[in-house]
Amino acid sequence: MNNAEILHEELLTLDSHIDIPWPDRGDAWEDTQARQVDLPKLARGNMSAACLAAYIPQGARDETGHTAAWERVQAMLGVIGGLAGSRGGVTAEVCDTVVGIRAAYERRSVAIVPAVENGYPVGEDIGRITILRELGARYMTLTHNGHNLLADAAIARADLGDAATLHGGLSELGREAVREMNRQGMLVDVSHASRETMVQAVRESRSPVVATHSCARALCDHPRNLDDGQLDLLRESGGLIQITAMPGFLRRGGGAVGIDALVHHVAYVAERIGVAHVGVSSDFDGGGGIVGWRDASTSAAVTEGLAAHGFTTEEIGMIWGQNFLRLLEQAERLAG
Ligand SMILES: [Zn+2]
Repeated sequence: MNNAEILHEELLTLDSHIDIPWPDRGDAWEDTQARQVDLPKLARGNMSAACLAAYIPQGARDETGHTAAWERVQAMLGVIGGLAGSRGGVTAEVCDTVVGIRAAYERRSVAIVPAVENGYPVGEDIGRITILRELGARYMTLTHNGHNLLADAAIARADLGDAATLHGGLSELGREAVREMNRQGMLVDVSHASRETMVQAVRESRSPVVATHSCARALCDHPRNLDDGQLDLLRESGGLIQITAMPGFLRRGGGAVGIDALVHHVAYVAERIGVAHVGVSSDFDGGGGIVGWRDASTSAAVTEGLAAHGFTTEEIGMIWGQNFLRLLEQAERLAG
């Protein structure tokens, strides 16, 4: 093993955004070509922790849609919450506290951290956020593509009748949702949110916000990415952006996109707002994957890329998880 591989084995490594196949096939413990992330691949890639998101596609903003989304999110969190176990020398624990994640790391277990992608299933009932937290969710992405009752998305869905904006950022209900997430100790995830939504969420939230899977707009002009002004807001508010391995967010115009592009975005953000405000995520099983990091089993390549760029051991540890854990800890402290 080279030095970066040894370092990778030692670090607490956390991937802040991974989807799960749905409907569930019960194959999370199989090393299968059908998934980029499963327990064997996480273990082989020396990943300490994985945020698995219950992703809910945006649908109609009506009662039927909200009821279906609510049922789906509970079923998905049920599957994610049921992943604890031991097979073939791999142990997984479902962790919804920083203490739990750190303890799993000490035991060399993989920590599964449940999350929700899209506030759509909340519908008009803020009380559902308590239930999502009880089901283990540690963050909720305010929107997916398409506006919901809480907020405007970065990408409107014309097929759902969306205009460019619906609320001009957060709705009144969305502001209430942010405050409730603060009370529950859930991180407010601004990936997929419109710029106005993001700016307003930073102001509304008592706890720093995170973009769990976005990139730098100055390097790649995509509406899903955060511009320099948004990055500066993250620095001022103590927030975090987790640069994601989505080729279209890393480089315009296609072609092979590799680890160098991911590291380039990380370095850009670190240079502008400080290494305490940047991390990494894969968006595996949700469209993510780049040359050199096609699935969770090759995650050491990211550490190699960061080390080759010149990041120190401490900085790589921050990028791979310590920054994200800091935000989770802050949310826990401010909860209640
Ligand atoms: Zn997403």
